[in-house]
Amino acid sequence: MDEKINYQTRLKQIEELLMSERGFVFEVPHDENVMTLISGGLDSSLIPDLIIKEWNVHVYPVLFKRGQRAEKYEEKAFDFFVKFYKERYPNKIADPIKIEASIPPKEVKPYVSKERLNMLGHRMRNSTMINYSIMYAGALNDEYNLDIRTILVGSVADDVNSPESGLLTLRTQNYSVCEQTREWNWQITSPYTEPTIRQRPLDKADLILYAHDNKIPLENTRSCFSEYEIADGTCFACVKRLKAFDFIGIKDPIRYREVTQNER
Ligand SMILES: [Zn+2]
Repeated sequence: MDEKINYQTRLKQIEELLMSERGFVFEVPHDENVMTLISGGLDSSLIPDLIIKEWNVHVYPVLFKRGQRAEKYEEKAFDFFVKFYKERYPNKIADPIKIEASIPPKEVKPYVSKERLNMLGHRMRNSTMINYSIMYAGALNDEYNLDIRTILVGSVADDVNSPESGLLTLRTQNYSVCEQTREWNWQITSPYTEPTIRQRPLDKADLILYAHDNKIPLENTRSCFSEYEIADGTCFACVKRLKAFDFIGIKDPIRYREVTQNER
């Protein structure tokens, strides 16, 4: 079968399963508590602003310290934006949590091919973080009688068909989480691409414009995967980021490392 038709068919099937069990695929969590995974990158760092404006939610920010090369720079960006949004939206941002969990397990890392890593990242990385977030949100709900049922990630339009963060992937995990917890209210999605609320999924260029219009300091985001403090400009994340800035004709405010032609 044509791959695209097959994708749409499977998406429809998963959504029908969710519909038949609970009567909705996604409900806007107006005024609810929501959990948001923030890596400090351009995409995820804007989520709190957008969803507080659009949905008036209370945000639980989560950072993963998973042993990634850029961990300390991502953490710095995360800390910056938690503080920034706490000041911009008093009482709308919960104290953040940093989950320390090696993803993949450190015993596995020596065997991961560099080529795969640079192109696709670690297998099951995003879904593992989402599963941990479900554990955390569920525990908060139990302990404090909260209503967190929405876990948000920063997938953008370019990610829609990607195996790691595409819509079908999020829907499939959403169904799996509901089935495994027997809690049918969970919803896992991206506020940028959720098709029940966006006629057109937002892409990275849309987010840059959004940040510009809403005075969100993108110079404090960290996208680069490298271990360098100054972005290398050559990794997968940098390339996508620079392409989006280039597309809309705005200069990326972060600094990039000067690299020689040989290194490129
Ligand atoms: Zn980079």
